Amino acid sequence: MKLILLGAPGAGKGTQAEMICQTLSIPQISTGNIIRAQIKSGTALGLRVKAIVESGALVPDDLVIELLKDRLAQPDCANGFVLDGFPRTIPQAEALEKICEIDAVLEIYVPDEKIISRMSGRRTCPACGASFHIEYNPPKTEGICDMCGAQLVLRADDDPKVVASRLQVYHDQTEPLIGFYKTRGLLKTVEGQEELADTTRLVKEALGI
Ligand code: AMP
Repeated sequence: MKLILLGAPGAGKGTQAEMICQTLSIPQISTGNIIRAQIKSGTALGLRVKAIVESGALVPDDLVIELLKDRLAQPDCANGFVLDGFPRTIPQAEALEKICEIDAVLEIYVPDEKIISRMSGRRTCPACGASFHIEYNPPKTEGICDMCGAQLVLRADDDPKVVASRLQVYHDQTEPLIGFYKTRGLLKTVEGQEELADTTRLVKEALGI
């Protein structure tokens, strides 16, 4: 299955993407993780986009499209993938249509007020990119990544001051994709629930997995 996950930052895309990928044995492609890895390794691209990412703005379309194209060309994507955080703009969605045919687009809808309270509890693994929440999806050991054992951190762009501007960016630049994919008959919407297990059940039902 070639799937896109849509939703505001903090809606739970990353967590559901992990679940879907484990269920279907396909890779999770997170452009946010790819970009953070470039920043961490200090590549030319990483240095160019560091300040943009930390401000909560979007990286220019041409750079992200190139990164995604390279990633989708790798052999593990041949049987499908879940895109988490891409596309974020109409030009990115149009570029993706030229690269491959998508089977479904799943929107996880969560109102802004809930997003703001959720984001402050999010903890991310700087080593492997896994995402947790101190209340809704806690790691087995507090502050430690279940997947690789690294110390979890609050991402700079999850800082409450940055969250408000990331939500604005979502409404302005990414939300138009909902109409874009609705017109193409690809959109399914699930409302994010208080309990992670309830959202997971709704996502599985929506995708028939
Ligand atoms: P995420 O982890 O998906 O929330 O992404 C973190 C940050 O990386 C975003 O706030 C953007 O600065 C950048 N980013 C990730 N994916 C994209 C994309 N598809 N287009 C532009 N910028 C992106």
